Amino acid sequence: MKMVAIFYEVLTKNNQKTKFFYKYSTAKLDYKLDNINEFYKWVKSLREFTYHWKFHDITTILDPLALTSEENYIVKNAIKKSLNNTLKNSIEYEFYAVDMYNSLKSEFMDKYSSGYKKKLWRNTYVDLYCTDIIGMKNRFIKLINIEYYSTDTSMLPIFTNSYFISKIQTCLHPFLLNEITRVLLEQLTETRGTIKLTPFKYVKLISDTIRDNRYMQNLFEVEIRKCSHCDSTFHSTKNCNSRAAINLRQNE
Ligand SMILES: [Zn+2]
Repeated sequence: MKMVAIFYEVLTKNNQKTKFFYKYSTAKLDYKLDNINEFYKWVKSLREFTYHWKFHDITTILDPLALTSEENYIVKNAIKKSLNNTLKNSIEYEFYAVDMYNSLKSEFMDKYSSGYKKKLWRNTYVDLYCTDIIGMKNRFIKLINIEYYSTDTSMLPIFTNSYFISKIQTCLHPFLLNEITRVLLEQLTETRGTIKLTPFKYVKLISDTIRDNRYMQNLFEVEIRKCSHCDSTFHSTKNCNSRAAINLRQNE
């Protein structure tokens, strides 16, 4: 039997024809959004989908009419299929894929107000004795993504590497920060300043530094331990920020 490929021929904006094979596994988003908190993960999957089929990246365009009607139809369907029922209902009356995206984005922005985001950064405090390196890494990646995707598109130019790196630095205990700065200077000298430091590389540098510190102290197996003041696993009780706050209050 001869296999017949089933596709729609879609006209994209630049009058280019692209074939959309709607039975392929890539014809849908590979991430299902069940909770608006995970919006940023879903956006990545939406982007992969649009790149794959050479559609417009609807996360960066403002004019809903930039998409041809076929493109709009396909992207809309893909979005709908990737949402749970509550979220699907919330965008039911949107006619354009771009508007669907914007409506979900504003739901996400409502969740993460700037005050709430500040609090999330402030409550992330890491020292050399962090017992949960993977959790720490995920936390920073999450914070960066939340910051990035919950902000107005017109604000995006502020999001440089150094913007995020200095945000991360405010979460580090001074000893850890010093150690990282020292290692970084060494690396910069070795590579003659050619390292392009992204926030993700910086987070890796934090984990490497914590691991090296364990190694120096002959600690090979470290169990995840919570700080007794604030329940965080990213620092020891000795260095806890909230403990410092308690001491200050007592001394007043
Ligand atoms: Zn603590």
